[in-house]
Amino acid sequence: MDLDTARQRITELRAEIAEHDRRYYELDQPTIADAEYDALVRELRGLEAQFPDLATRESPTRRVAGKATSLFAPVAHASPMLSLDNVFSREELQAWADKAERGARGLIDYVCELKIDGLAVSLVFADGRFVLGATRGDGSVGEDVTANLATVADIPAHLRGPGVPPFLEVRGEVYLPISTFDRLNRELAARGEKPLVNPRNAAAGSLRQKDPRVTAGRGLRLWCYGVGAPGATGAGQPTSRHSQELARLRDLGLPVNPTIEPAASPAEIEAFVDKWQRQRHQVDYQIDGIVIKVDRYDQREALGATRRAPRWAIAYKFPPEEKTARVLRIAVNTGRTGRVTPYVELEPVQVGGVTVSSATLHNESEIRRKDVREGDTVIVRRAGDVIPEVVGPVLENRPPDTHPWPFPARCPACGAALERKGDEVDWRCPNRKRCPAQGARWLEHFGSPDAMDIEHLGEQTVALLMERGWVADPSDLYRLDGQSLASLPGFGERSARNLVEAIAASRDRPLARLLVGLSIPRVGSHVAQLLSQRFPSIELLAKAGLDELQTVEGVGPEIAGAVHTWFRDGENLDLIERLRQAGLRMADRPPAPAAGALPLQGRIVVITGTLAAFSRDEAQAAAERQGARVTSSVSKKTSFVVAGADAGSKLAKARSLGIEVIDEAEFLRRLGGE
Ligand code: NAD
Repeated sequence: MDLDTARQRITELRAEIAEHDRRYYELDQPTIADAEYDALVRELRGLEAQFPDLATRESPTRRVAGKATSLFAPVAHASPMLSLDNVFSREELQAWADKAERGARGLIDYVCELKIDGLAVSLVFADGRFVLGATRGDGSVGEDVTANLATVADIPAHLRGPGVPPFLEVRGEVYLPISTFDRLNRELAARGEKPLVNPRNAAAGSLRQKDPRVTAGRGLRLWCYGVGAPGATGAGQPTSRHSQELARLRDLGLPVNPTIEPAASPAEIEAFVDKWQRQRHQVDYQIDGIVIKVDRYDQREALGATRRAPRWAIAYKFPPEEKTARVLRIAVNTGRTGRVTPYVELEPVQVGGVTVSSATLHNESEIRRKDVREGDTVIVRRAGDVIPEVVGPVLENRPPDTHPWPFPARCPACGAALERKGDEVDWRCPNRKRCPAQGARWLEHFGSPDAMDIEHLGEQTVALLMERGWVADPSDLYRLDGQSLASLPGFGERSARNLVEAIAASRDRPLARLLVGLSIPRVGSHVAQLLSQRFPSIELLAKAGLDELQTVEGVGPEIAGAVHTWFRDGENLDLIERLRQAGLRMADRPPAPAAGALPLQGRIVVITGTLAAFSRDEAQAAAERQGARVTSSVSKKTSFVVAGADAGSKLAKARSLGIEVIDEAEFLRRLGGE
């Protein structure tokens, strides 16, 4: 790029960034996702590095973004409230650590903290009393929001304990818990008002209210992560480390996040980053990365800071979970149970580490509330394993010729008139047994890991099998032969054989999995387990009366009614007969003899996450052979939880209930040499 083009692009980028800063910091209404903003800043930083003459002191790469608005009285910060520089990869992290170790002339003890996605505040305590609270503003001057912060329950009116320093300025992040954000949005929706875009902007908007009573009603929270002047908590005893200071803040009654961990090397930092990238959705607040800080104050001093950010800390940003994308088309899908879900087809974008080309709009009232239209640019969110969803349209980018999207009156797959019961939000296709979309989703579900776990039976294969008319319901799968399959487009002999073998292997699955696969209304994995424990064969279950079904713990009248009705339908009974003829086991083997000597006799076990030595089924079978009852959800009755890699909500639930959690090695030990 030549100098002139670079100059032009730099001017353009600075103007664009300034506009986004205004929308983000002053209006609390961003129109692009954070990752896209970060990309603009990176591009600018790259150009300024390449053309140093074009770099200026006022460039957004060199100063703290944001501004103190005139809504509140200005507060000059005793020491600047800086931003943080970012890294996005291990290599960049390593480069930062190398540079820091050179600057600090020695090895560094690091402290790893969650990067809470809220807004920075400064809290001043004089003689232990909370007297002043301010936003960051432009880093030097912030806004006086004392009255509003005083309504935040996490901020004590008085510090506690001995050693309260005469003056203390604490720095922290005010945030809105995700559960509160969701509740506020439900309330706004019920009143027909515009939803809040994300918890970060909702927190900023809630804090910067003219009327503190409004702030009080929003349920803001706070985590403290530092002090304005190092050593400030000292009160006689000097503090020489950040970690020490945080411990003192905690003793003084301030909220300090419990997840903070020391790290002795970049490898240990990476382990912390990896762990939290996986489990970022286990906490009830948004985190957009990890902040890594130098622990020792003397080393911090040696490293210093730029006008924008300290050199002794860095933010490792997680891959983005939100992006903007253009809506190509809006359509509806008919699901396995007939539920009709609207979704958008998008120009493909990378979100949360995968390419997303469609996103759900949940139901008709969501699409009305958000008023998403074909041609709109929308913010798409994909958090963890959750299905990508549309947060909302960016109205500024709406083309002039759009119109609200009309929800269809008929099922796109079979043409049946859609129905909706009085108080339900969902439209349904009533053609349960003949709708090809419901049929295809059912077959996919039948083969899914929670049901009969038939590998290689994916969406495309199901579509092909149905198109050929070879398969209409699950019993047809067991009649497929390798030779015909090999003739399908995209199939060869090997893939045909794999599929036939996978289908054959599913004949022997436990009853509970078959019950899930049959798609009986209200019967998911958990209920199927409960039912099969009480009625270990399909005949027994089919014959069970309503009252008998209701005596199963965990099965109420609604589930019992649904199961009872399903087994009274002739077509369903025919299907069961066909499955029997196809050689499915359809009954559980009698439990192992009740020899009291089995190591896990009478224990109720939940297995979650990925284990190294077993598949989930093998682990379950091994535990059952040793006398355990394996259930799929954690309750107070659970004896212990086996947590493998990437364990998620079940692990969290076990912890919250105080249930014992063991790792795979301990599990192997308890299996007693299995
Ligand atoms: P930042 O959010 O990247 O990092 C600095 C901030 O991190 C601090 O001010 C503090 O508030 C916060 N923080 C959270 N946990 C912390 C911890 N444990 N220790 C220390 N600090 C912690 O920087 P910024 O200058 O506040 O904001 C820039 C970012 O804001 C951008 O990277 C972008 O993601 C977003 N932004 C988005 C838009 C948009 O239009 N979408 C516009 C402007 C800024």
